[in-house]
This record gives sequence, structure tokens and C-alpha cells, in this order.
Amino acid sequence: MASIFDRSLLELAKEADAIRKAKWGNDAFYVKNLHINFTNICSNQCKFCAFARKKGAEGGYLKDVPSIVQHVKDKGAAAKELHIVGGLHPDVDLAYYTDMISSLKSEFPDKSIKAFGAVEMDFISRQSGVPLEKLFNIMKGAGLDMMPGGGAEIFKPEVRNIICPEKVSGARWLEVMEIAHNAGILTNATMLYGHYESGEDREAHLMAIQSLQERTGGFNAFIPLSFQPAGTKFADVPPVTAVTDLAVTAASRIILKDVPHIKAYWVMLGEKTAQIALRFGADDLDGTIEEENIAFAAGGSSKRGMTENDLKHMISTAGLNPVERDSFYNRVS
Ligand code: SF4
Repeated sequence: MASIFDRSLLELAKEADAIRKAKWGNDAFYVKNLHINFTNICSNQCKFCAFARKKGAEGGYLKDVPSIVQHVKDKGAAAKELHIVGGLHPDVDLAYYTDMISSLKSEFPDKSIKAFGAVEMDFISRQSGVPLEKLFNIMKGAGLDMMPGGGAEIFKPEVRNIICPEKVSGARWLEVMEIAHNAGILTNATMLYGHYESGEDREAHLMAIQSLQERTGGFNAFIPLSFQPAGTKFADVPPVTAVTDLAVTAASRIILKDVPHIKAYWVMLGEKTAQIALRFGADDLDGTIEEENIAFAAGGSSKRGMTENDLKHMISTAGLNPVERDSFYNRVS
């Protein structure tokens, strides 16, 4: 069956760049943010993940809330957004998560808290016995502003079963996001590509996100995630090429016509491909990040953080106007 990925790269680029320009003109966005990975201990053992550790394994950690607050004091003075994700720790209760969010919010009221993706929210709900609708209200009350988009991987069950058999299904991921949107929480969305999926699988994944967006309007940005095989059980899978990275970026912009923003996530793409992706449909480089751990664990060759000047330079030399944003894409003057 033919898919959008059968089209020529430059044809995709032309269409995607025109859509980006119609939405955002010459502006391209970045955010000053800080990543916080509070634990790498995880009940799942996704085969593509080089970050997670089993409970009791060497190198496993769980940060307590005071040390997370201290970390933000030490590293996140300029950050407008705290991006918080971690493993599915089997022994952590709901109070740990709400204490983390409320402590950060009261200490740093001017920073947005983007925390716990759909897989984590589903896990916290099951562990605590609190239904998702109620859980989202509790999290919002604690200070949650929005949710990141990780865990979508690829929705096709047969491929999902190869790369992450223990993870919740793609259908459940979409269901959790729909409940979050209906509870008034904006989220992002992702797709992990470059492993065992076909062009048709990618296209179907993008169309499922577009379809949910037509119902809820709750996705803020889409982030295509380029698979990093090093350190995973799929270390023999060939690295994703720049051509695939750019084709996926452009196809995302074309199919996700109702999702406002497409990110060129420099951590996964590398700085140079991310910059070019700004002319293949992406309008956002994500952020300074400060200390990236997840792609780094999989041998990611990008830096672990960028300065604001690095990001502005990448955007302006791609011929676009750098705009600092907050989590909700409000311009920061
Ligand atoms: S991808 Fe997430 S859920 Fe899967 S093993 Fe890694 S940390 Fe756990």
C-alpha cells in the first residue's frame, strides 16, 4: 500500500514548509527548560529503552522531593518550564508525585510544570486505585500545567509488541490522552520511528493523533522521536538516516494539520538535522534542556544541553526569527 513516505523528500519539504509558514510566518520557537528524570527504576522493560533499570539493579535511583527542588534551584534559575518524566517505580505512591508537583509549584510559581506522560498517568492511576478523571483533577490541584507526549512509540500492535510488549497499548495511550484533554489538560504527542515500523505504520500513527485532535483539540505539539539504538536490545538496527528524519518531520506537518506545533527535537536529531528540519515543517527546536538523560543513556551524540544563544543561532541561520516561548507558546519578551 502506498504511503506519504513514498513521495519525494523535496516534494514533502515544499508542502510542509508552506504549511509551517502559513501557521507561523517566519517565527520559530524555543523554550528555556529543565528536564527532571526523578527515577530510572521501571516496572516495564521496553526493549528500545537504555534508560530504565530494574528495581535493585546497579545504577537504579529514585530522587526524593527535596533533592528535586534543590536540583531546580541549582540548575533551573532561568527555566520557564520543568519537564518531568521517569520510570514506573513499583514502590512509589500517589503522595510522592503530588508532593513533587506541589513543592515545585510553591517554590517556583513562575515555572510551568509539564509532568508525567500517558503511560505514567495510567500506571499511577492503577497503582493508587484513583480513576484517571479524578487523578487529573488531583494533579491539576497540585500544580500540574500540562503533560508531555512520550510513550506513544508506534501504535501498530504488532510492532509495539516487538519493541515494548509490556507497555500499555496504543489504544490506551490515546484513551488516556483523550481523558486528559477532556479534563482540561493540554498535552504533547510523539512517535518513535526508525526501528521495525513501516511507512504505513507511521502514517496510521499520525492519522490516529490527527483524528483525536479533531475531537479534543488538546495536543499542543507533536515531537517525532528518532530511535537511538545504542545501548538497547536493538543495537544492531541501523541508525536512522537524516533523510528519514526529515521525511518524518515533513509528513508530520502535512498530516497533523490541526496540531499547532511540530518540534525538531535536537537531542534525538542532532543539532544539524534539527536545524534543517526547521525548513521541513518544524517550527520549534524545544529547549535548552540543561541535562538530558534518556537519549544520552542510548548513546545520543548530541550535547546534554544548549545555551539560549545556541538555539537562537540555529534558528536565525535557518532564515527564521527566534522567538522564546513558554509551555503554552506564549511569547516571552
Ligand atoms: S520507555 Fe519508559 S516505560 Fe519503557 S522501560 Fe523506559 S522508562 Fe520504562
